[in-house]
Amino acid sequence: MELSERIQHLKPSVTLAAAAKANALKTQGKDILNLTIGEPDFATPENIQEAAIRAIKSGKASYYTPSAGIPELRQAIVDYTKKNYGIQYEASQAIVTDGAKFALYVLFQTILNPKDEVIIPVPYWVSYGEQVKLAQGRPVFVRGKEKNAFKVTVSQLEEVRSTKTKALIINSPSNPTGMIYDKKELQAIGEWAVKNDVLIVADDIYGRLVYNDNEFTPMAAISEAIRKQTIIINGISKTYAMTGWRIGYALGSQEIINGMISIASQSTSNPTAVSQYAAIEALTGTQEAVEEMRNAFAERLNLLYPLVSSLPGVTLNKPQGAFYLFPNVKETLLMCGYENVTKWAEDLLEETGVAVVTGEGFGAPENIRLSYATNLGTLEEAIRKMAYFIESKSQN
Ligand SMILES: *Cc1c(COP(=O)(O)O)cnc(C)c1O
Repeated sequence: MELSERIQHLKPSVTLAAAAKANALKTQGKDILNLTIGEPDFATPENIQEAAIRAIKSGKASYYTPSAGIPELRQAIVDYTKKNYGIQYEASQAIVTDGAKFALYVLFQTILNPKDEVIIPVPYWVSYGEQVKLAQGRPVFVRGKEKNAFKVTVSQLEEVRSTKTKALIINSPSNPTGMIYDKKELQAIGEWAVKNDVLIVADDIYGRLVYNDNEFTPMAAISEAIRKQTIIINGISKTYAMTGWRIGYALGSQEIINGMISIASQSTSNPTAVSQYAAIEALTGTQEAVEEMRNAFAERLNLLYPLVSSLPGVTLNKPQGAFYLFPNVKETLLMCGYENVTKWAEDLLEETGVAVVTGEGFGAPENIRLSYATNLGTLEEAIRKMAYFIESKSQN
């Protein structure tokens, strides 16, 4: 059968593919040091697990929920956002989705007509462009300069703006770079978006995972005008070590949220009920575990950063949040006699068992993404092996 053009043009997720390859090798009994992982390596905190079990036992998790999510969770999302961002939404302006990834998917289905443009800063999270295309929109890529910590500027945005520009995605802290837009940068971009009526899609999923002296500023909290121009995308996956539970959400204008609810009602009906009850506990219960996990990530980052920076040929901005390092390995490849990062990463995996994600899927083919969502021992050994690999290749 001839499949749809849509599916013929779709690129599957490279990060999920890289992780699957590492896992397959591991299953075959190979010693794999896996730095491809895009999710916290911690177990979901105990209090959240307990809340889920209670919801199952009481019977209330047995049934469909409203498509927008159960009212208590929508209220919890609004209260959490008020507490952390200092801004107020109505519960009706929140939709609970099957992960933040699906919130983005439904959003693009809701706002885009064929050929409408969405500006996506590069390096980007792998799914943005593909999701825009699935909604028949056109991704417009703008490269954040490495010396500007991979962040885009208003003049760059203005260069690519057209009459078709509908939205701009800002992901801060960023996957894959770990960099954060500061308040001044956000304000300039936000004011540009308001002036030109461009919807800002603020993917805040790593907002609680910031380290050292860095601070997360939410785009929507900059001003009332910018808040109205912004749709917040967030979720519990990264903050609460709950990737498998699949709960995300969006907050924004009633009109857009209502459109998203309609699509959800005709596609998934609702996010899994038991996960929604667990999410209420995540957002309203003790936040102790979040702080412990954040401290563990910070410790790993601070240990790893100098080690990776001192690898031959590597240049690296110190990440401020999320749980990735995104070194530029252009010089390293040259030293090792490689033309592209894909072959280099394949040989690295083959010869040393160190699995990384190449930057190509993020629009940055000179870079690799190293996740530190794994234990310190694995991280140290992986970097030692990478150093050895680079040195032995360079001598040839
Ligand atoms: C992980 C991730 C998401 C999606 O998370 P969900 O598990 O679907 O909630 C969205 N954006 C970025 C940048 C991510 O890294």
